[in-house]
Amino acid sequence: MSGNDDLRLKLSKEAANGPLEDARGEYAEARAEMVEKQLRRRGINDARLLQAMNAVPRHEFVPAEFRSRAYDDAPVPIGEGQTISQPYIVAAMTAVLRLTGNERALEIGAGSGYQAAILASLAREVFTIESRPELATSAAQRLARLCYANVHVHCGDGTMGLPEFAPFDAILVAAASPSTPEPLLAQLADGGRMVIPVGTVENQELQLLERVHDKIRVTALEPCRFVPLVGAHGWKESPPR
Ligand code: SAH
Repeated sequence: MSGNDDLRLKLSKEAANGPLEDARGEYAEARAEMVEKQLRRRGINDARLLQAMNAVPRHEFVPAEFRSRAYDDAPVPIGEGQTISQPYIVAAMTAVLRLTGNERALEIGAGSGYQAAILASLAREVFTIESRPELATSAAQRLARLCYANVHVHCGDGTMGLPEFAPFDAILVAAASPSTPEPLLAQLADGGRMVIPVGTVENQELQLLERVHDKIRVTALEPCRFVPLVGAHGWKESPPR
């Protein structure tokens, strides 16, 4: 076997594991199609956001057995009964935060770390909290491996927020709560924006909350379906259907 053959073998082995495969275009095409059909055609038009959705390797955030479904128009299981949200929902929630690049953002429910990677591409610094230790650990490792250096993964009850790093210009809650957790509202900066699914298992709506001084303006967005936010200021146990 010549030296060149060796190199090719090595490349194709690495390719099977991720980024190189992507550089060769296998997933790049699926991702571009996702951006066009699922996002742009449905009204997502923020150029920076579309660019981030086109750049973050979503297939790296789903378990190996579901990789072929990574760019589907659907949520994907990530283990422990949790899911990574459908691409459109990730984009729609991120869009209403109107990130420009200077923000300190907080996410509740890191899950796979995918949403955090999108936020990290658009804001200055991202804190994300995950209550399940295994998911928190794997999200932190994955984000580090993919070089998202401006994301900090914390393990704990996200309904308490992170008072030591507040205030936050943007807060994204990725699990459904009976109402907006008070600590999160208290940690929202003046002029800050928070997006959160509110409701029971089967009846939820996405809400946008904007702080102007001591007033909070609430705008109802669209119906949605998220796993429950379980914590001191969320559901105490399994929520009603
Ligand atoms: N944003 C994630 C998907 C979120 S799924 C991604 O991009 O992959 C919702 C996540 O919220 C689950 O991982 C669940 O464990 C977590 N969660 C539920 N209640 C929580 C709480 N009180 N604090 C932090 N995380 C919580």
